[in-house]
Amino acid sequence: MMIVKPRSPAPQLTFMECLNNHLDLSLKEKQYLENLRKGEVGERAWEKQLNTLSAEVLILYDLTLEINHTLFQIDALCIFQNEIIAFEVKNYQGEFHIKNNLWYSSSLNEIKNPLLQVRRNESLLRQIAKRHKIRLPIKYPLIFVHPEFMLYEIPPNENIILIPQIRRFIETLNKKPSILNKSHHQIAEMLISMNIQRDDYSLKFNYCFEGMRKGIWCNKCNGKIVRWGKSNLFCEQCQTEESIATGVLRSIQNLKILFPSQKISTALVHEWCGELASKITIQRILKRDLNKMGGSKNIYYV
Ligand SMILES: [Zn+2]
Repeated sequence: MMIVKPRSPAPQLTFMECLNNHLDLSLKEKQYLENLRKGEVGERAWEKQLNTLSAEVLILYDLTLEINHTLFQIDALCIFQNEIIAFEVKNYQGEFHIKNNLWYSSSLNEIKNPLLQVRRNESLLRQIAKRHKIRLPIKYPLIFVHPEFMLYEIPPNENIILIPQIRRFIETLNKKPSILNKSHHQIAEMLISMNIQRDDYSLKFNYCFEGMRKGIWCNKCNGKIVRWGKSNLFCEQCQTEESIATGVLRSIQNLKILFPSQKISTALVHEWCGELASKITIQRILKRDLNKMGGSKNIYYV
């Protein structure tokens, strides 16, 4: 097993977490954030499973690809000797059933049929493979990773894998003939080069620096951080202590995510961090960890 493209938290999730700290989100936005968090937990669970593969296989996580002006995301993709297997991971919780190709929750509400998304992705991935002369056959199973998920009346021949089947599924993957050569690595490199970084998710939100909550939030639990002694910060919620520098630098990262074109200055960071550190301390951190730009009256850092 070789991870050629590691998993990283979805940029939408990082963005929404920042927004949630600094702004009061609407109920709908909170729901969206919650779904992103659940998705993240699900993808992490599946990553854990794939990383146990002992077979020789190349693994790529989080690909966003485009063909014919259509974008689609692949949660994970494995390149074996004789085939490519892409995975759609869902972290649904609760009981669901399928009737006449429609999916229902236990409260009998119809939900979006996730197989439609998988079939669409599979077709788009095949088109990409054809265009780039990748001749390996493609499979695209739908994986449910939540321990409290149950799906009834699954039609035969559907490529759905539930939690109790995962172990055996991983075993079958390990038994696949897999001797990789240069061409497999070339496929991986090609897919990585086609990966698209998206950052248009911030356009949907309206916010300005002045109207936002200022402060530093905990890296572990999102609790609000307070000053602790001369050079530390402290999260009262999870009792984590950290240096002022790490907290301020994280806060600058968030500032850059929410305001990518904003010039970083001492006064701006001082306000953004809720004045948890003095201007002198912030200037020292900026000088040490960022690059100083601009003239005497217009100093900023990148
Ligand atoms: Zn905390």
